Amino acid sequence: MPTPTYNYTGTVVLVTGAGRGIGFAIARDFARFGATVFLNDIDSARASRATAELVKQGLDAYAAPGDVADPDQVAWVFQHIDTKAGRLDVLVNNAGIEPVASILEHSLEDWQRTLDVNLTAAFLCTRQAGKRMKAQGGGVILNIASIAGKAQPLYLRSAYAASKAGLVGFTKEAAREFAAYGIRVNAVCPGVIITPMTERLRQNPEQMARWRSEIPLGRLGEPQEVSALCLWLASDAASYVTGVAWHVDGGKNMA
Ligand code: NAP
Repeated sequence: MPTPTYNYTGTVVLVTGAGRGIGFAIARDFARFGATVFLNDIDSARASRATAELVKQGLDAYAAPGDVADPDQVAWVFQHIDTKAGRLDVLVNNAGIEPVASILEHSLEDWQRTLDVNLTAAFLCTRQAGKRMKAQGGGVILNIASIAGKAQPLYLRSAYAASKAGLVGFTKEAAREFAAYGIRVNAVCPGVIITPMTERLRQNPEQMARWRSEIPLGRLGEPQEVSALCLWLASDAASYVTGVAWHVDGGKNMA
C-alpha cells in the first residue's frame, strides 16, 4: 500500500498533551511533513524532552508547556505561538486523563478535573485558536475524543466517558459555528492504542486476549495510526469534511 504524502511546509500546528503517546506521534508526523509544531504538555520537562527529540531529527519544533485546563496558562501558550510563529493553522486538542473509579466512590474533585482537562481545555484552546484562525481566513481543529464518548462504554470510567461525549458534541457545535470562517472541526475517536495511558491494562494477559477477540483487526492500535487520520483530516484532501467523529479502532465499533 503506498503511504500518503503531505506538504505541511509553512503550516503551524499546536498539539496539547504532546509530551508522549498519541500527541507526540501527531506532533512528530506533522513535523515530518514540514510543519512547524508546538508541543504542549503539563509536564514541562516532558514537553522539552519531546521537543528536543524532534529538533535532533532536524524538525521544526518548539515546547509550549502548560496546563491547558488553566485559562491563564492557555493564554501564555498562545502568546508564545504568536511571538514565535505569528499564526496558527492546526490545533489538536489531545491532552487527556482517564481516572478509574466507580460512580459510587468517585470524588467530585476527580470528576471535575477530568471534565476540566478533557473538555473545558478544548473549549479554552478552541476559543484562542478560533479567533486567530477567523482572522487568518481558515484553519483546522481536531479533538481527540474516544470511542468511550461515542459508541462504546468502558467500565469504571464515567467521568472520562462523559467528558469525551461532551467533546464530540462540542466538535459538532464548533464545526457548525466556524464553517462560515473556513475553519473545519472534526473529532477523532481512538479505540485501544499502545501508549502509557493503556500500559497497566496491557500488562494483563486476560485483558489483552479479550481485546484481541473483540477487535475485528485482531490487534491494538499504534499512535501513528491515529496521527495518520489527523494528517488526512487537516489536509486539503479532507476539504469538504467537517463536524464528524471518526473511529480509529480496528473495526471494534462500526456505528
Ligand atoms: P498519555 O500517554 O497519558 O499522554 C497524554 C499526555 O497529556 C501526558 O503527557 C499527560 O500528562 C498530558 N496532560 C494531561 N493533562 C494535561 C493538561 N491539563 N495539560 C497539558 N497536558 C496534559 O495519553 P494517550 O494515550 O497518548 O492519549 C492521548 C489522548 O487520546 C487523550 O485525550 C486520550 O483520552 C485519548 N485516547 C487515548 C486512547 C488510548 O488507548 N491510548 C484511546 C482513546 C482516546 P500527565 O501524565 O501528567 O497526565
